[in-house]
Amino acid sequence: MANAEFALIKQLQQALEHAGRGVRLGIGDDAAWLDSEGRTLVSSMDTLVAGRHFFADVHPADLGWKALAVNLSDLAAMGAIPRWCLLSLALPPLAEGYGQWLQDFAAGWRALAERADVALVGGDTVATDGPLTLSITALGVVEQGVMRRDAARVGDQIWVTGTLGDAAAALDRAFVSRGLPGWGIDCSEANSWFLENRRLRPQPRLDFARAALSAGVTCALDCSDGFLADLGHILQASGLRARIDLEHLPLSSALRECIDGDLQRLLRWPLTGGDDYELIFCAPLALSRILMELGENCALPVTAVGEVLSADPHAAEDVDLYWQGQSLSLPMNRGHQHVF
Ligand code: ADP
Ligand code: MG
Repeated sequence: MANAEFALIKQLQQALEHAGRGVRLGIGDDAAWLDSEGRTLVSSMDTLVAGRHFFADVHPADLGWKALAVNLSDLAAMGAIPRWCLLSLALPPLAEGYGQWLQDFAAGWRALAERADVALVGGDTVATDGPLTLSITALGVVEQGVMRRDAARVGDQIWVTGTLGDAAAALDRAFVSRGLPGWGIDCSEANSWFLENRRLRPQPRLDFARAALSAGVTCALDCSDGFLADLGHILQASGLRARIDLEHLPLSSALRECIDGDLQRLLRWPLTGGDDYELIFCAPLALSRILMELGENCALPVTAVGEVLSADPHAAEDVDLYWQGQSLSLPMNRGHQHVF
């Protein structure tokens, strides 16, 4: 059954609107009216397109979670506290209508929104002849400064939160199971469930990020396109180079089993695979102990994987990659990039 625009908006409003902090006027007027209580704002936007960022047959609850998660991950990377979101939905015709779909989408969204205390305060809903497309604007507030990409310093250690490569391996598995080109992956039922959950339900590292910022970390970004590609953004913005020790990249036990010591898989999933939504951050050695403690407090492993080096105009690459002490050339493909 087809749905009319306003019925869908009403449904979204009932499912997702909650009395968020600083919401003077939420869904229902021409614009939201928000009070940032004198704090500066951080804003970010991410768009997800069916067939590009998610499979069109994704469960809407997983999509709701992930659409919000990837946006909150950007706020986390800045060290911001999320407050509000705007959601644009472009919906292609659906034979059975969007009533159930929206209910499931909202349940997945809400599971994360409640944890992160972020309120949906507006958006837009349109029909499209193209693929289902979601665009989300996330707004947060900052207490002190932010963490930035251009703040790495020579001698900083390079850290990552959590583990890398799980989602990319799960994506390969999902491609192959749909008869699409990808790398086969041989793993147990339990491991493949773990990896798939990492792909579908990324966890924005909000608490750790704020703690790291308070402890004096000034350089971070979230890793969404592949570790090597995203580290490259920090190095380029900071005008520096890095050394990375491949064997230090943190792997889940599930992924470690699937990689089984194979170098090509190590290069493909943890080094250059996308969709991790972990943080990469740089910090002076003096902060190492406190960062490990903050990770423990957040029940989140944090791992030093390399070091920031000074610029070298003669170096062909921005990263010196080592594996067990041996120099490796960088893979051709460093991560995901849209091509137009
Ligand atoms: P306008 O005609 O000003 O564009 P709309 O009819 O698009 O307003 O939207 C009506 C209200 O519903 C607005 O407050 C808008 O922010 C909200 N809204 C519309 N779509 C969404 C959505 N997908 N998520 C949240 N709020 C929405
Ligand atoms: Mg509108």
